[in-house]
Amino acid sequence: MGTYVKKFCGKCGKAIEGWHNDPFSKATKIGCPLIKCPHCGYINIDKYVKEYTMLSGYDYFKMYVPNIWGSIGISIILTAIIILIFKIENTTIFLASFTLLFILCLIYGINKEYKNIQKEINLSKERLKDEKYKKLIDKINEKTEHWYNVK
Ligand SMILES: [Zn+2]
Repeated sequence: MGTYVKKFCGKCGKAIEGWHNDPFSKATKIGCPLIKCPHCGYINIDKYVKEYTMLSGYDYFKMYVPNIWGSIGISIILTAIIILIFKIENTTIFLASFTLLFILCLIYGINKEYKNIQKEINLSKERLKDEKYKKLIDKINEKTEHWYNVK
């Protein structure tokens, strides 16, 4: 889903296969942010991919946002179906059922996302067990933190 934009090596300028991101979502993913250029060997940094030590509160927030929109969408559809089936004309019942469905969808979505994030964090912790890699990530983190503050 979405439009993907191909990304290019910061040194040689050639396109890197499999490296792209969605310019509309700009969502943060948990993973290894280092992308080695297959053409020249230069290590590029994907600023939308982070190890768990690099995540800010805003990154976590962005990971949960699609669940909020998804819950609103599903709740509207389910409420519409309920209204059609039971021919509900009472606004209070309509609002109550929408609110209830929204809360249930949100709890389900956030819980699912939370489990997914925990799984990714565990993988991230595994990768960071490598001292050399961890030092490199810490260094990148110091630098990229600055980029984010500028934005
Ligand atoms: Zn390159």
